Amino acid sequence: MEAVRSNGTKYDCLLFDMDDTLYPLSLGINLACRRNIEEYMLHQLHIEEIEVPRMCLDLYKEYGTTMAGLKALGYEFDNDEFHAYVHGRLPYELLKPDPVLRNLLLSMPQQKIIFTNADRAHVAQVLSGLGLEDCFHGVICFETLNPPSEPVNCINRMDEKLPRSDIETKKNKDLSLKTQILCKPSVEAMEAAIRIANVDPKKTIFFDDSVRNIASGKAAGLHTVIVGRSTLVPGADYALNSIHNIREALPEIWEDEGEHLEQIIQPPAVETVVQA
Ligand SMILES: [Mg+2]
Repeated sequence: MEAVRSNGTKYDCLLFDMDDTLYPLSLGINLACRRNIEEYMLHQLHIEEIEVPRMCLDLYKEYGTTMAGLKALGYEFDNDEFHAYVHGRLPYELLKPDPVLRNLLLSMPQQKIIFTNADRAHVAQVLSGLGLEDCFHGVICFETLNPPSEPVNCINRMDEKLPRSDIETKKNKDLSLKTQILCKPSVEAMEAAIRIANVDPKKTIFFDDSVRNIASGKAAGLHTVIVGRSTLVPGADYALNSIHNIREALPEIWEDEGEHLEQIIQPPAVETVVQA
């Protein structure tokens, strides 16, 4: 991504999570998404019904997303098919245009980028529902962090010299590498996003509703804002009950550093007392 610099403020870039950050958790999209994932596990992967809710949550906690966890366990399924099943059937009609947030975003002088674990089609649906399609300079999503790779079905010349069992081991190793999903909250995903956005983490603010994403964002060197809470969590520099409170909590996003400096070094004005 082409970097945008020198807007005069303390920050160059604002990285925004999307789901439950740009709209509230109470809307119910998150709940509907979890139900769809559970249905996918039950009907498409044929996991025992009694196991599904606990497994869904455990994998989410352990691997960042349930999908990443399912892949790590060895379940084979098409990423696009999974996303179509889980996101394609969401009640997007619950999302309404948010002109307040739109005006706030458009007034921010920094480069603004979406950073989400979700797929590109879901991002398009959500931004369109909120009326924010033209408010961001870029999107870092599932496909950005996990580009489709070549199928692992060829054995190269070196491998031909290996005994059969070693070839199988290597193939399995390759396969397991291919099934690793890069996603938040891993610090590697944070660092990849910083690299792709081509930004200086010290001049970037990261907004997310997830406590663990905030912790790894801080570990990657970003300024951090937990959204959807009024109290700080470990690694958070700011807490915002709603993204709508951003101007009150972070006026420095709009403040010109130069102007601020002038205000500080300006000598106090001489008070003239006029007596009538
Ligand atoms: Mg979120």
